Amino acid sequence: MSVFDIFKIGIGPSSSHTLGPWRAALRFLAELEVDSSLSSVKTLTVDLFGSLAKTGKGHATDVGVQLGLCGKDPTSTNTQQSTALIAKIAATQSLELAGRFKVPFCAEQNIHFHRDRQLPFHPNALRFCADLSDGSTHEAVYYSIGGGFVVKEGESATNTASKVPFSVDSAAELLAHCDREQCLISELGLRNELQSRSEAQIQAGLKDIWEAMLESIFSGCCHEGVLPGGLHVERRAAAISRSLLGEIEDLATWKEALKSQPSSFDGVLKWVSCFALAVNEENAAFGRVVTAPTNGSAGVIPAVLLYYLSFCNGHENEVASFLLTAAQIGWIFKQRATISAALGGCQAEIGVSSAMAAAALAERLGGTPAQSAEAAEIAMEHHLGLTCDPVGGLVQIPCIERNCMGAIKAITAATLALERAPDQSKISLDVVIDTMWETAKDMSTKYKETSEGGLAISIPVNLSEC
Ligand code: SF4
Repeated sequence: MSVFDIFKIGIGPSSSHTLGPWRAALRFLAELEVDSSLSSVKTLTVDLFGSLAKTGKGHATDVGVQLGLCGKDPTSTNTQQSTALIAKIAATQSLELAGRFKVPFCAEQNIHFHRDRQLPFHPNALRFCADLSDGSTHEAVYYSIGGGFVVKEGESATNTASKVPFSVDSAAELLAHCDREQCLISELGLRNELQSRSEAQIQAGLKDIWEAMLESIFSGCCHEGVLPGGLHVERRAAAISRSLLGEIEDLATWKEALKSQPSSFDGVLKWVSCFALAVNEENAAFGRVVTAPTNGSAGVIPAVLLYYLSFCNGHENEVASFLLTAAQIGWIFKQRATISAALGGCQAEIGVSSAMAAAALAERLGGTPAQSAEAAEIAMEHHLGLTCDPVGGLVQIPCIERNCMGAIKAITAATLALERAPDQSKISLDVVIDTMWETAKDMSTKYKETSEGGLAISIPVNLSEC
């Protein structure tokens, strides 16, 4: 139940389909290590089921699995290193398990995409099977349940071992704690974090998270060209940034220059869209981003936070509070519903990120905890039913632009919540979360990260050249 579980640094394009399988592979290695059988692995196979099989190619699940099996750390491996390693595995038809033990491996033969099979617990399932030199096998099934979270077969998908002073499973509980303690949501979040880290560690960790977010925005604003994958999607953030600010080569100058940008409606709209596009273009290009709460929705929170710092006189020392509030809201969605598009469609990704950003922005703009919760409610209310139908299984169309929409809706939601008199809201945050979950359960699997419906089948796609 930590802000650092919600915000995790990794590389694109998908938290559930790239980062989750990567972390599952690392867990499998750790189990082999405990059994002292890592050095005796002779062959390895990986089976992908459900959504991981259906959109795993476009979402780079096979890449994540291979990097995990090589023991690479998702928080520090960069795009160039991962590309070079995948090329080396393909060229040598082998990989170094945990970076130490060479085993034969060919992605085409050893990773199986079972597009017509789904395991009962969750649509994102993967199984690792290692044949050992003594003739035995070591097998394990994991589920990538969204946002990079992974559970093993038999484990619970929800956190039941919370030891924080203010346990929060619903917005009502959150608001009751805030009311009793006379504190903001961010302050409550901080007190919970202090159970496991010192304040200095929390501040330093959140600073790292924000710097990674900011770098993903700036990097997206510096890179032009066509995104990988075969859809020939042109990157746009760099052109927007250049048209507004000219050519700027370093992040510090660029960030400072943003503060003197005109805050006209048109200007703000362009910049917020640019920030969100930039992050998700980086994500689609296998760049470094932060799950917020997922990779596909990684642009919303950084875009709204940078909007606050650049256009609302926000100060860098408020970044930690912004992220703490956002995380509390994200956690309630995860506990009460889902942040997995394979279970809930895009409402569970962009909708949740927009709600998180709206609550955090409302608080920074002077809102009470009730107004923050209302901002989150409004943001989610207008994402209900949003489907996940990525074209070609790639996290590009509609995903990249959808982050712009999520960010703008978050700003609108915060504005509306701050303008309403207390207790005027007819719908609570818990009600909208429960409605989202019911909608998720009613949603056809065609619209749950399978690329079998919606936009994904409306556009003729030939990815053979990717
Ligand atoms: S459509 Fe939404 S949920 Fe689906 S992959 Fe794209 S951003 Fe993620």
